[in-house]
Formats: sequence, structure tokens, C-alpha cells
Amino acid sequence: MTDNAADEEVVPYDSTPFPGWAEKVASWGWTKIYQDQKIVYYGIEGTCPRCRHQMSTIRTNTPIESFLVEAEKFRESLWTDTPPESEYVQCNCSIAHPTHAAGEGCGQYGYVPFAKAIQKSQS
Ligand SMILES: [Zn+2]
Ligand SMILES: [Zn+2]
Repeated sequence: MTDNAADEEVVPYDSTPFPGWAEKVASWGWTKIYQDQKIVYYGIEGTCPRCRHQMSTIRTNTPIESFLVEAEKFRESLWTDTPPESEYVQCNCSIAHPTHAAGEGCGQYGYVPFAKAIQKSQS
């Protein structure tokens, strides 16, 4: 294991809202990912405020096939006309939190401002 967090105690899976979780995630901001000079998706990533493991979520409205295969792993959702006000984000860390399997995260999730956030990042 190269992950330092592996040495620390792993918190049990718990979906009880962790105070400030979504706010902290929102503070990371959405990153635009380009392919051929077009935005193919927006990503948000950081260290889960509860379990301290790396987590990430991506969102898109661009149905690029090769991307969607990848997106499936990240529980991708497509929006149709306008970007949604907020997006569902969940911890998807790769560490197994009892009583869940690795890859299911620590149970934390929330809604993070999206439409306004990505407008702001367009300069
Ligand atoms: Zn975790
Ligand atoms: Zn977590």
C-alpha cells in the first residue's frame, strides 16, 4: 500500500450527513476537462472530508462514447438543456469501509452547486 491513509483507522460506512461535507466538497470547485478544444466534462476531486481518502466525480452533457464507458464507473449523469443548479456528489474512495466493499466510498454524499459554479469558472 502506498496510501498513507491505509495506516489510519478506517471509519465505518455511514451515510449520516457529516457536518460541512458538501460545503467542503463545493469549495474544491469544478475543473473543466477538454478534448479537441471542447469541454467534455467537469470534474471535482479532493480528499473526502469524512474519511480522508481521495474521491472524485465527473459530470457532462457530452455523450462521447469512449468517455461514457469511463463515466459509468463514476456514476455519470447527463443533463439535457441547461446545467443543473446542483449536482449529486458522493464519496467514491477506493478504500473498503465496513460494511461496504472497496469502491463504494464511506457513505457520504451531497448536492454541490453546479450551474453557477461552472459559469464562474469560465473566464
Ligand atoms: Zn474512504
Ligand atoms: Zn469518504
